[in-house]
Amino acid sequence: MKKIVVIVFGVLCIGCTQATNAQSQKVKTEVSDVASVMEFLASDDLKGRDTGSEGLKKAATFIESEFKKYDVKPYFDSYLDTFDVEGVETYNVVGFLKGTDPKLANEYIIIGAHYDHIGTAKTVAGDTIANGANDNAAGSTAVISLARYFAKMKNNKRSVLFVLFGAEEKGLLGSKHLSKVLKEKNIDLYTMVNFEMIGVPLNDKSYKAYITGYEMSNMAAKMNEYSGAELIGFLPKAKEFQLFKRSDNYPFHEEFNVPCQTISTFDFTNYEYYHHVDDEVSEMNYEFMAELINDCIPVITTMLNTPTKEIQLN
Ligand SMILES: [Zn+2]
Repeated sequence: MKKIVVIVFGVLCIGCTQATNAQSQKVKTEVSDVASVMEFLASDDLKGRDTGSEGLKKAATFIESEFKKYDVKPYFDSYLDTFDVEGVETYNVVGFLKGTDPKLANEYIIIGAHYDHIGTAKTVAGDTIANGANDNAAGSTAVISLARYFAKMKNNKRSVLFVLFGAEEKGLLGSKHLSKVLKEKNIDLYTMVNFEMIGVPLNDKSYKAYITGYEMSNMAAKMNEYSGAELIGFLPKAKEFQLFKRSDNYPFHEEFNVPCQTISTFDFTNYEYYHHVDDEVSEMNYEFMAELINDCIPVITTMLNTPTKEIQLN
């Protein structure tokens, strides 16, 4: 009897693993998923997603509806974390998945990207709309896709916040606001991974993306270990231009003094349309984006589930 139970249990376990793998395949990001989010956020209709604009509001409403659709919960009373920029109301959009482990659920990982942009830029051939496809509909797409994945998989022992930041282009104002709010709540922030400008691949690099603040922590090494590939590298220009301080990871690092870093594939040579009206979806490589987003899945899964906080400042 005992032996039979063992055999049956073994068979069931194999079944479980297969089901989990199949499920994981199904919820991975497809090129069509990337296209649908990108084409909404970077459309002319949103007019460059400037802070305080109708277009930004439409973007926030779209992100809320994506979160609702995938059963990603609001972290606050609503998905919108409202703050003020010189008398104008704007917001971060914050989704939440509570950790499945009673103890590790008290530790948080933030996966973030800014969804705002600059509205307009210098007119070229009658076009004034700065669509911000690479900057940063692309990073926003990664966060929305990962939120969908983890909401379906429910395999996060730690809690995770999926944050689309407002007013980054005004001086990291959304992340400054939220980092203070979370610090006041005294959450136990383990680490933060931010996505910026991942719409175009790097040229002639052995790694797929770089991380800002590379030398500040073991995050890149751990990400490569977790992914089993050379996913993340060091870009000297990122250090030279202090990109670590130029995106929404930085306020979290300042408030919490834990590893908070940005993944990007913009290297100053592979994309001419930074803050330019031609930063449009037609310039994006959706295949590459889907691949990079999916490559991040085992990395973030491991981050959410290791018994101890393996990623640390140097
Ligand atoms: Zn940006």
